[in-house]
Amino acid sequence: MMQIVFATANQNKINEIQKLIPESIKLLSLSDIGCTEEIPETQSSIEGNASQKSFYVFDKYHVNCFADDTGLEIEALNGRPGVLSARYAGENKNSEDNMNKVLAEMQGITNRRARFKTIISLLLDGKEIQFEGIVNGVILTERHGAMGFGYDPIFAPDISGSSSSSKQVSFAEMDLTEKNKISHRALAVNKLVEYLKQIG
Ligand code: IMP
Repeated sequence: MMQIVFATANQNKINEIQKLIPESIKLLSLSDIGCTEEIPETQSSIEGNASQKSFYVFDKYHVNCFADDTGLEIEALNGRPGVLSARYAGENKNSEDNMNKVLAEMQGITNRRARFKTIISLLLDGKEIQFEGIVNGVILTERHGAMGFGYDPIFAPDISGSSSSSKQVSFAEMDLTEKNKISHRALAVNKLVEYLKQIG
Protein backbone atom coordinates (compact mmCIF):
# COMPACT_ATOMS: atom_id res chain seq x y z
CA MET A 1 0.00 0.00 0.00
CA MET A 2 1.28 3.42 -0.95
CA GLN A 3 1.82 5.73 2.01
CA ILE A 4 1.94 9.48 1.62
CA VAL A 5 2.27 12.15 4.26
CA PHE A 6 -0.06 15.12 3.96
CA ALA A 7 2.00 18.01 5.31
CA THR A 8 -0.64 19.99 7.16
CA ALA A 9 -1.58 20.60 10.77
CA ASN A 10 -5.15 21.45 9.76
CA GLN A 11 -7.49 18.60 10.74
CA ASN A 12 -10.30 20.08 8.60
CA LYS A 13 -8.19 19.55 5.53
CA ILE A 14 -7.18 16.03 6.49
CA ASN A 15 -10.87 15.15 6.92
CA GLU A 16 -11.74 16.70 3.55
CA ILE A 17 -8.96 15.00 1.64
CA GLN A 18 -9.32 11.63 3.35
CA LYS A 19 -12.77 11.38 1.74
CA LEU A 20 -11.32 11.97 -1.72
CA ILE A 21 -8.30 9.68 -1.60
CA PRO A 22 -8.76 6.05 -2.73
CA GLU A 23 -8.50 3.36 -0.04
CA SER A 24 -5.39 1.99 -1.70
CA ILE A 25 -3.48 5.09 -0.63
CA LYS A 26 -2.80 5.51 3.07
CA LEU A 27 -2.75 9.11 4.15
CA LEU A 28 -0.46 9.87 7.07
CA SER A 29 -0.51 13.04 9.11
CA LEU A 30 2.47 15.02 10.32
CA SER A 31 1.95 13.68 13.84
CA ASP A 32 2.08 10.12 12.44
CA ILE A 33 5.70 10.79 11.46
CA GLY A 34 6.54 12.71 14.63
CA CYS A 35 6.62 16.13 13.02
CA THR A 36 5.22 18.57 15.53
CA GLU A 37 7.11 21.71 14.65
CA GLU A 38 5.57 24.50 12.62
CA ILE A 39 6.55 24.26 8.95
CA PRO A 40 7.82 27.53 7.45
CA GLU A 41 5.58 29.32 4.93
CA THR A 42 7.55 32.40 3.99
CA GLN A 43 7.30 32.57 0.20
CA SER A 44 5.55 35.33 -1.72
CA SER A 45 3.27 33.10 -3.79
CA ILE A 46 0.83 30.26 -3.19
CA GLU A 47 2.95 28.04 -5.47
CA GLY A 48 6.11 28.91 -3.53
CA ASN A 49 4.55 28.17 -0.16
CA ALA A 50 3.22 24.78 -1.27
CA SER A 51 6.72 23.82 -2.48
CA GLN A 52 8.42 25.13 0.60
CA LYS A 53 6.24 22.96 2.84
CA SER A 54 6.61 19.72 0.86
CA PHE A 55 10.37 20.14 0.47
CA TYR A 56 10.72 20.85 4.19
CA VAL A 57 9.02 17.55 5.09
CA PHE A 58 10.85 15.57 2.41
CA ASP A 59 14.27 16.97 3.32
CA LYS A 60 13.80 16.40 7.02
CA TYR A 61 11.83 13.13 7.16
CA HIS A 62 12.68 11.50 3.80
CA VAL A 63 9.07 10.50 3.08
CA ASN A 64 6.88 10.88 0.04
CA CYS A 65 4.55 13.74 0.78
CA PHE A 66 2.38 16.52 -0.48
CA ALA A 67 1.53 19.95 0.82
CA ASP A 68 -1.13 22.41 -0.20
CA ASP A 69 -1.47 26.13 -0.05
CA THR A 70 -4.63 28.06 -0.68
CA GLY A 71 -5.50 31.68 -1.13
CA LEU A 72 -8.62 33.72 -1.69
CA GLU A 73 -7.98 36.14 -4.56
CA ILE A 74 -10.39 39.07 -4.83
CA GLU A 75 -10.43 40.95 -8.13
CA ALA A 76 -11.31 44.39 -6.74
CA LEU A 77 -8.52 44.04 -4.14
CA ASN A 78 -5.88 43.28 -6.79
CA GLY A 79 -5.75 39.63 -5.76
CA ARG A 80 -5.58 40.17 -2.00
CA PRO A 81 -5.68 38.49 0.46
CA GLY A 82 -4.01 35.87 -1.79
CA VAL A 83 -0.89 34.41 -0.24
CA LEU A 84 -1.71 36.39 2.93
CA SER A 85 -5.14 34.74 3.37
CA ALA A 86 -4.36 32.96 6.66
CA ARG A 87 -3.04 36.08 8.36
CA TYR A 88 -4.79 38.86 6.48
CA ALA A 89 -5.98 40.71 9.59
CA GLY A 90 -2.64 40.21 11.38
CA GLU A 91 -0.53 37.48 12.94
CA ASN A 92 -2.68 36.79 16.00
CA LYS A 93 -6.05 37.17 14.30
CA ASN A 94 -8.52 34.47 13.35
CA SER A 95 -10.92 33.71 10.50
CA GLU A 96 -13.57 36.04 11.94
CA ASP A 97 -11.09 38.93 11.92
CA ASN A 98 -9.98 38.04 8.39
CA MET A 99 -13.59 38.01 7.14
CA ASN A 100 -14.32 41.30 8.89
CA LYS A 101 -11.34 42.89 7.16
CA VAL A 102 -12.43 41.64 3.73
CA LEU A 103 -16.05 42.72 4.27
CA ALA A 104 -14.91 46.17 5.37
CA GLU A 105 -12.61 46.57 2.37
CA MET A 106 -15.36 45.38 0.02
CA GLN A 107 -18.00 47.74 1.39
CA GLY A 108 -19.57 49.69 -1.46
CA ILE A 109 -17.59 47.79 -4.12
CA THR A 110 -19.82 46.34 -6.82
CA ASN A 111 -17.26 44.05 -8.45
CA ARG A 112 -17.48 41.11 -6.03
CA ARG A 113 -15.60 38.62 -8.25
CA ALA A 114 -13.18 36.35 -6.40
CA ARG A 115 -11.63 32.93 -6.62
CA PHE A 116 -10.09 30.35 -4.34
CA LYS A 117 -6.87 28.86 -5.64
CA THR A 118 -5.23 25.72 -4.26
CA ILE A 119 -1.81 24.49 -5.26
CA ILE A 120 -0.68 21.03 -4.23
CA SER A 121 3.02 20.26 -4.35
CA LEU A 122 3.64 16.51 -4.54
CA LEU A 123 7.12 15.17 -3.86
CA LEU A 124 7.78 11.58 -4.86
CA ASP A 125 11.36 10.42 -4.46
CA GLY A 126 12.39 14.05 -4.42
CA LYS A 127 10.71 14.97 -7.72
CA GLU A 128 8.09 17.72 -7.54
CA ILE A 129 4.82 17.97 -9.44
CA GLN A 130 2.23 20.71 -8.83
CA PHE A 131 -1.54 20.46 -9.24
CA GLU A 132 -3.85 23.49 -9.36
CA GLY A 133 -7.52 23.86 -8.44
CA ILE A 134 -9.52 27.05 -8.94
CA VAL A 135 -13.11 27.86 -8.08
CA ASN A 136 -14.59 31.17 -9.19
CA GLY A 137 -17.30 32.98 -7.28
CA VAL A 138 -18.27 36.15 -5.45
CA ILE A 139 -17.74 37.76 -2.07
CA LEU A 140 -21.07 38.14 -0.29
CA THR A 141 -21.94 41.33 1.58
CA GLU A 142 -22.46 39.43 4.84
CA ARG A 143 -21.86 35.98 6.34
CA HIS A 144 -24.10 33.09 5.35
CA GLY A 145 -24.03 29.62 6.93
CA ALA A 146 -22.12 27.96 9.73
CA MET A 147 -20.36 25.00 8.13
CA GLY A 148 -16.83 24.81 6.76
CA PHE A 149 -14.01 27.05 7.92
CA GLY A 150 -11.95 30.08 6.98
CA TYR A 151 -13.65 32.42 4.52
CA ASP A 152 -16.46 29.92 3.69
CA PRO A 153 -19.33 32.10 5.06
CA ILE A 154 -18.55 35.02 2.73
CA PHE A 155 -17.68 33.13 -0.49
CA ALA A 156 -20.37 31.89 -2.89
CA PRO A 157 -19.01 29.73 -5.72
CA ASP A 158 -20.42 30.01 -9.26
CA ILE A 159 -22.57 26.98 -9.76
CA SER A 160 -22.81 25.99 -13.38
CA GLY A 161 -26.34 25.84 -14.66
CA SER A 162 -27.69 28.20 -12.02
CA SER A 163 -29.34 31.36 -13.27
CA SER A 164 -28.03 34.72 -12.17
CA SER A 165 -31.29 35.33 -10.32
CA SER A 166 -30.97 32.17 -8.23
CA LYS A 167 -29.97 32.56 -4.61
CA GLN A 168 -26.25 32.62 -3.98
CA VAL A 169 -25.16 29.82 -1.68
CA SER A 170 -22.00 30.20 0.36
CA PHE A 171 -19.50 27.41 0.98
CA ALA A 172 -20.57 27.56 4.65
CA GLU A 173 -24.11 26.62 3.63
CA MET A 174 -22.88 23.42 1.97
CA ASP A 175 -22.02 20.22 3.77
CA LEU A 176 -18.65 18.64 3.09
CA THR A 177 -20.00 16.31 0.41
CA GLU A 178 -21.49 19.21 -1.54
CA LYS A 179 -18.42 21.41 -1.09
CA ASN A 180 -16.13 18.59 -2.18
CA LYS A 181 -17.93 18.32 -5.51
CA ILE A 182 -16.80 21.78 -6.56
CA SER A 183 -14.14 23.16 -4.24
CA HIS A 184 -10.71 24.42 -5.27
CA ARG A 185 -9.05 21.90 -2.97
CA ALA A 186 -11.17 19.03 -4.34
CA LEU A 187 -10.23 20.00 -7.92
CA ALA A 188 -6.53 20.00 -7.07
CA VAL A 189 -6.83 16.79 -5.04
CA ASN A 190 -8.68 15.06 -7.89
CA LYS A 191 -5.76 15.88 -10.18
CA LEU A 192 -3.36 14.54 -7.55
CA VAL A 193 -5.40 11.35 -7.12
CA GLU A 194 -5.61 10.75 -10.88
CA TYR A 195 -1.85 11.08 -11.06
CA LEU A 196 -1.28 8.71 -8.13
CA LYS A 197 -3.64 6.13 -9.66
CA GLN A 198 -1.60 6.16 -12.86
CA ILE A 199 1.70 5.57 -11.18
CA GLY A 200 0.39 3.40 -8.33
P1 IMP B 1 -4.16 27.38 3.66
O1 IMP B 1 -3.01 27.78 2.85
O2 IMP B 1 -4.90 26.22 3.07
O3 IMP B 1 -3.82 27.17 5.11
O4 IMP B 1 -5.25 28.51 3.64
C1 IMP B 1 -4.93 29.86 3.81
C2 IMP B 1 -6.13 30.61 4.28
O5 IMP B 1 -7.24 30.40 3.41
C3 IMP B 1 -6.62 30.21 5.68
O6 IMP B 1 -7.00 31.39 6.35
C4 IMP B 1 -7.82 29.38 5.45
O7 IMP B 1 -8.75 29.56 6.46
C5 IMP B 1 -8.33 29.89 4.13
N1 IMP B 1 -8.91 28.76 3.41
C6 IMP B 1 -8.25 27.71 2.87
N2 IMP B 1 -9.12 26.85 2.32
C7 IMP B 1 -10.35 27.37 2.52
C8 IMP B 1 -11.65 26.93 2.19
O8 IMP B 1 -11.90 25.86 1.62
N3 IMP B 1 -12.66 27.74 2.57
C9 IMP B 1 -12.46 28.92 3.21
N4 IMP B 1 -11.27 29.36 3.55
C10 IMP B 1 -10.21 28.59 3.21
